[in-house]
Amino acid sequence: MILDLTDVCSCENKELTKEAVIELTSFDSKLGVFPFIEKKPFELRIVNEENKDLLIHGETDVRIAIPCDRCLEEVPTDFHLVFNKKFPLEDADASEEEMDEADYMKGFQLDIDKMVYDEILVNWPMKVLCREDCKGICKKCGTNLNVKTCDCEKSELDPRMAAIQDIFNKFKEV
Ligand SMILES: [Zn+2]
Ligand SMILES: [Zn+2]
Repeated sequence: MILDLTDVCSCENKELTKEAVIELTSFDSKLGVFPFIEKKPFELRIVNEENKDLLIHGETDVRIAIPCDRCLEEVPTDFHLVFNKKFPLEDADASEEEMDEADYMKGFQLDIDKMVYDEILVNWPMKVLCREDCKGICKKCGTNLNVKTCDCEKSELDPRMAAIQDIFNKFKEV
């Protein structure tokens, strides 16, 4: 959704509050396509501050399905997105520079979806796990080890686990 801010920008101290609609239905990136499970309206408050600055405050929540890093089960992941942005209105040159930086603002047209996209990108989690102790999938047969075990030989033991096993073996020997 594109929001036209010409009115606010050209009228001193004008304030606009708006529930904008996020049209994006998924987050598409190099990593893949991640569908939105839920999204709230985008609460926006835009203020022309004495014709000097344009303040944009926005807040919304989206829930996105991201596969678990270990077992690939989809994990509903919540993003709370908050924007606080100030664009200079007074100095036309500076303002153009600022707006070039933010590709969601073209002239006085605010691109809601681009804005949301950028913010999700910044907040994208480094690691997504369905649960802290997710056992992942067996590298040999692909069994989801959270659901059942498989009979494959576990040759690639985590070195820390191997150390613990050594200790157990010692106890058995005694
Ligand atoms: Zn998992
Ligand atoms: Zn297996």
